[in-house]
Amino acid sequence: MVKAVVGACWGDEGKGKITDMLADKSDIVIRFQGGSNAGHTIINEYGKFTLHQLPSGVFHSNITNIIGNGVALSVENFVSEIKELTDRGIPHPNIIVSDRCQVVMPYHKQQDGLEEARIADAAFGSTKSGIAPFYSDKYGKIGFQVSELFADKEYLMNRISNVLTLKNTLFKNLYGAEVLKVEDIYNKLMEYRDLLEPYVADTFDFLSKAVKDNKEILLEGQLGSLKDPDHGIYPMVTSSSTLAGYGAIGAGLPPYEIKEIISVVKAYSSAVGAGAFVSEFFGEEADELRRRGGDGGEYGATTGRPRRMGWFDVVASRYGCQVQGATCAALTVVDVLSYLDEIPICTAYELDGEEIGYFPSTVKLERCRPIYKVMPGWKTDIRGIRNYNDLPDNAKRYIEFIDANICTPIKMVSNGPAREDIIYR
Ligand code: GDP
Repeated sequence: MVKAVVGACWGDEGKGKITDMLADKSDIVIRFQGGSNAGHTIINEYGKFTLHQLPSGVFHSNITNIIGNGVALSVENFVSEIKELTDRGIPHPNIIVSDRCQVVMPYHKQQDGLEEARIADAAFGSTKSGIAPFYSDKYGKIGFQVSELFADKEYLMNRISNVLTLKNTLFKNLYGAEVLKVEDIYNKLMEYRDLLEPYVADTFDFLSKAVKDNKEILLEGQLGSLKDPDHGIYPMVTSSSTLAGYGAIGAGLPPYEIKEIISVVKAYSSAVGAGAFVSEFFGEEADELRRRGGDGGEYGATTGRPRRMGWFDVVASRYGCQVQGATCAALTVVDVLSYLDEIPICTAYELDGEEIGYFPSTVKLERCRPIYKVMPGWKTDIRGIRNYNDLPDNAKRYIEFIDANICTPIKMVSNGPAREDIIYR
């Protein structure tokens, strides 16, 4: 069976932990989109890890991990993350890279930085991992597919020189940067070819057989619904689809094979980068939740930037689950809220004087104001609880209110960062 674990909101919902947990029962774990611009934090018997490029199944030696064709592959990060794992005593992961996946080039990162500097105050808050230039080039047909690294020199030199005609016009005339040389790019591609060679495979063929053999396959999403380029808060989005539906394309699987879609929802909200965030709050109250949040505070796994904080947003989360086509939800970080006397929940938006329950497109979203309902807190540590009925009544009320309002049944409640901190409902 194919399952997907995806984010319902702005990302950082705790997908890494849920994926790592479900990976236990999987044969294959696949990254199908995005690059190393976001990180999953995983805590297990080996310690604490932040994965940016590798699938979360790398800790289990019985799992085949796949970098799907939809991923933006940073070869440097791929290699250094594998090294970090083996240096820390984890067996060399079993991992294959789709020959249809494309590589992030050093000039993508450079372009990302130059563009953020050019637009200065209007910057998107990019992690400067080269993701937007990478996907622009992929769809502009001037990217490099892994399969092409194994083509003959003449073919590659022609491709590179066409790509550089475009890139150098931009670099020289718009950014006043140094121009790129064909020979340097060729050498870089050859370096990537040598590093990737042991991992490259026709993953489509591999997965077709795996589906036929009824293998347990897990699709691992990055970021969340609201960062999707079509359904998110455009233009403050990422550059590849964050939705489970794209899993079929970014991994190379029949869409009808994705039977379970688990959307990970956080018990409060956090966001990185710019963009509308209706239930955001500030000041000492926000600082306290940021300090207590997640495992060791709400700071970007890739950048270390403080995340923006907000109360649980029913409107955004319901929409986020719906666009994912979620069959169930996992509610995470519930334990973090245990210190609060009262917990506001944003239940609707006010748009131009009218109450709305739908999540509008960005221009309208910017004008929305939160409408809150305040729930009583439970004021006891809930870590270590394994049975739903053992939770304090107010914690159950909070969970059940969310469950009733996001149109998606909450099947898992996460009450701590570790693999075993989970309550099934
Ligand atoms: P992801 O990108 O969706 O995997 O999310 P991140 O890894 O960026 O952020 C989630 C953070 O919350 C990580 O530090 C996790 O270890 C932590 N975390 C996940 N679930 C829980 C939970 O239920 N309680 C607490 N306290 N932390 C959690």
